[in-house]
Amino acid sequence: MRTADVVIIGGGIVGASIAYHLTAAGCRSVLILERESAQGKGSTGKSMGGVRAQFSTDVNIQMSLYSIPFYRDFEADLGHPSGYRGQGYLFLATTQRQLDYLRSNQERQHALGLRQARMIAREEVASDYPQLRTDDVMGASFCPTDGFVDPYSAMTGFTSWAIDHGAEIWRSAEVTAIELDSSGIAAIHTSKGTAQTRVVVNAAGAWAASVAQLAGIELPVVPLRRMLVPTEPWDAFPHTAPMIIDMSNGFHFRPEARGLLFAWNDPEEQPGFNTSFDEAFVEKILLRAANRVPSFAEVPINPKRAWAGLYEMTPDHHAIIGPAPGVPGFFLANGFSGHGVMHAPATGKVIADLILTGKTDVADVHKFRLQRFAEGDLIHETALL
Ligand SMILES: Cc1cc2nc3c(=O)[nH]c(=O)nc-3n(C[C@H](O)[C@H](O)[C@H](O)COP(=O)(O)OP(=O)(O)OC[C@H]3O[C@@H](n4cnc5c(N)ncnc54)[C@H](O)[C@@H]3O)c2cc1C
Repeated sequence: MRTADVVIIGGGIVGASIAYHLTAAGCRSVLILERESAQGKGSTGKSMGGVRAQFSTDVNIQMSLYSIPFYRDFEADLGHPSGYRGQGYLFLATTQRQLDYLRSNQERQHALGLRQARMIAREEVASDYPQLRTDDVMGASFCPTDGFVDPYSAMTGFTSWAIDHGAEIWRSAEVTAIELDSSGIAAIHTSKGTAQTRVVVNAAGAWAASVAQLAGIELPVVPLRRMLVPTEPWDAFPHTAPMIIDMSNGFHFRPEARGLLFAWNDPEEQPGFNTSFDEAFVEKILLRAANRVPSFAEVPINPKRAWAGLYEMTPDHHAIIGPAPGVPGFFLANGFSGHGVMHAPATGKVIADLILTGKTDVADVHKFRLQRFAEGDLIHETALL
């Protein structure tokens, strides 16, 4: 039987970041358990890779203020590229309400130290991106340090560094039972064998609720399908563009390889584990795309290259991070609601801090406690994509 100081269930970007931050802090006896034969087959390998600090709640802004510079310096510090490109996020407001909302978010962001975020007038948007239809744009917000990463590469970089510094990963190891004794966590049983430990972290992404259930914890995390549509090579929109978000309907897009990547969250999508791509979605998204960028009516799309993955949603669209109440030694890093890649570095640091010292100064993570749902103390984030 293997023993480990900390066992991490799930080898996606969140589990990998936790393993990195633990080993970097000197905790070398770390074991990652991944049920697939390779990492990245969960949401991490399906992600759009967007990273932004333009949020409306302090705690999400704080998580990004740790994570984005971390991704920027990733290669220098870990010797592996994160693929970070600081091309920014540009939110286009089409009503006065949206514009006021962006402004008040930005005041909050500035107060927390994000000085680079700024408001942009319609004329500047129109001159920078004449391809956009701007007649209904009231203004915009832009932050140049927002941008994109390569989630798969970052996950691999975190894992390799952790393994080089003492951590271990078991692949094809599905967690089937969590053994408890009078002190809390005692052992983790997998399809590949048992690991004895006093500390375990649930980093099982969209499957986190069933893992938590193994320890008798009810976790309000549900899977929700999200679809992405890449275009074929397309030079009629600059490849240096930011992520551009049309707030009138939620359509957003960014440069990807020699083309673009289109995203839109269909409000009719119902929770579930379905990850098949629905070809009817192409028409729905193109309608919105061409409404903002008329030339997108002509953009070539091969639906066979499009894909779907799962968001891990919580009732208030904020993560659940911290110790699980009633089960000593059980930690949660779940429910990122579409922000798991951008907040993976901060989550790894927070979980490592909480395990090793019982506190953290990355963010006010008390807000992320699981108990908030029972207490009715939800966090309201409205800047969702
Ligand atoms: C289409 C799409 C676009 C997205 N865009 C963005 C974006 O732009 N920016 C952003 O920040 N986020 C984005 N996200 C969300 C982001 O991808 C996720 O929040 C993030 O990848 C979660 O990482 P994770 O490590 O928690 O989960 P995962 O990557 O899903 O990893 C969890 C792992 O746990 C393993 N596992 C599950 N159950 C068990 C078990 N019983 N035993 C052992 N292993 C188990 C799984 O196999 C999996 O590998 C997007 C998601 C999708 C689907």
